[in-house]
Amino acid sequence: VTSFSGKTVALFGLGGSGLVTALALKEGGCHVVACDDNPAKMADASAKGIETADLRDADWSRFEALILSPGVPLTHPEPHWSAKLARQAGIEIIGDIELFCRERAKVAPDAPFVAITGTNGKSTTTALISHILREAGYDVQMGGNIGTAILSLEPPSDERVHVIECSSFQIDLAPSLAPSIGVMLNVSPDHLDRHGTMENYAAIKERLVAKAEKAVVGADDEASRAIIARRSASGADAVRVGLADREPGSVFADGQTIVSNAEGHPVEVASLEGIGSLRGDHNAQNAAAAVAVALLLSVDVPTIQRALKSFPGLPHRMEEVAQRGETLFINDSKATNADSTEKALKSFDGILWILGGKAKEGGIESLRPYFAKIRKAYLIGAASDEFARTLGDTVPYEFCGTLDKAVEQAAQDAAARDDESVVLLSPACASYDQYPNFEVRGNHFRDLVRALPGINPTMG
Ligand code: ADP
Repeated sequence: VTSFSGKTVALFGLGGSGLVTALALKEGGCHVVACDDNPAKMADASAKGIETADLRDADWSRFEALILSPGVPLTHPEPHWSAKLARQAGIEIIGDIELFCRERAKVAPDAPFVAITGTNGKSTTTALISHILREAGYDVQMGGNIGTAILSLEPPSDERVHVIECSSFQIDLAPSLAPSIGVMLNVSPDHLDRHGTMENYAAIKERLVAKAEKAVVGADDEASRAIIARRSASGADAVRVGLADREPGSVFADGQTIVSNAEGHPVEVASLEGIGSLRGDHNAQNAAAAVAVALLLSVDVPTIQRALKSFPGLPHRMEEVAQRGETLFINDSKATNADSTEKALKSFDGILWILGGKAKEGGIESLRPYFAKIRKAYLIGAASDEFARTLGDTVPYEFCGTLDKAVEQAAQDAAARDDESVVLLSPACASYDQYPNFEVRGNHFRDLVRALPGINPTMG
């Protein structure tokens, strides 16, 4: 990236995307001085030719900007020291998505650029949009919060489309974000620890669609509907997506059918019937948003239908791992809180539920309405005692301690009945008591299931 060519910038945060950003700036002729609280990351960057220094002691007047990693607090509850020093020096604080936007404005201002945000469903929707556009023959560059650093993708050009997942932290660091299509799925209280108030959090998300040429906005929650209203008051419209809104100008899910009313009359675009990777109302919202984007990019309906059917889904999000007889094994390790687990409990019946880990506030109290769907619960990790109390006499449960034991026991119980059932890992907990992260926990579950006798190896 060339926007700081010949200039000097400070960069804080040398995690995956930070290092990529430092190297991209350097390649574009910028002098980067980088820093991280972790000395091992500093050493690694310096081995790759990046100048590193303790920026606490630096002369900040020589820096043009601070390039900040999205994981580092910019505001709430307290700005990181590097952000404080940058503010004192009066220099701008931006992130890698901002650098991408400036580059795009220079080299290919009309290049298709789809940016996606929302409290929930960002990664699924980003992956689904990318999948549909690939099926339609686009050269798709997918990245951002979903994993691949934006500056390690191919550069913008009129022939390719960038599909970028943005967290609110990344939006906060990208003042000139103006995608050709902005997607805002939903806003619910989350990350308030970092953004302070709900108003502030929603306002940051709104910025992604405010300057978008075209917008696709979820219409199923109040904060999102307010965003649609403000956009329309400013003379720009938005395609409304979700379950509730069926007015002209919307793309919605009518049960399992995605219907486009974008042209003012309802057209059935696709059916989600039997698509295991898109089960549940929450995925219907994600699918409606992805279909809306595809239609805006003139993808034809048969291609959209075909792509939805072949969407493999993302790992750890209600992922089908295997089938044995009448029993389906589902890995929902990404469900680290009760809200997320609720989506899975809603989507299945005859559930043998593996849960537990490091509990979040409120535990599984909010899941009581679904207890009737649960045949038995298998408790693992630190939350076991607390969850056993909530399950009480309503749901039979067993203390399993580890995932190994839980999978073994649940599989055995399922086999004993051999009727339709689902062995569901949806922990409603963080994984940190037993695993480094939810991915390792989900991979462990998958391995355990696939090692069971009689597993159909063709799935997943
Ligand atoms: P994100 O990237 O925003 O974290 P993901 O696509 O990874 O979202 O999905 C994470 C979890 O959020 C899913 O396992 C599901 O429980 C829930 N979820 C997914 N999509 C939605 C949605 N549209 N509305 C509400 N919850 C959702």
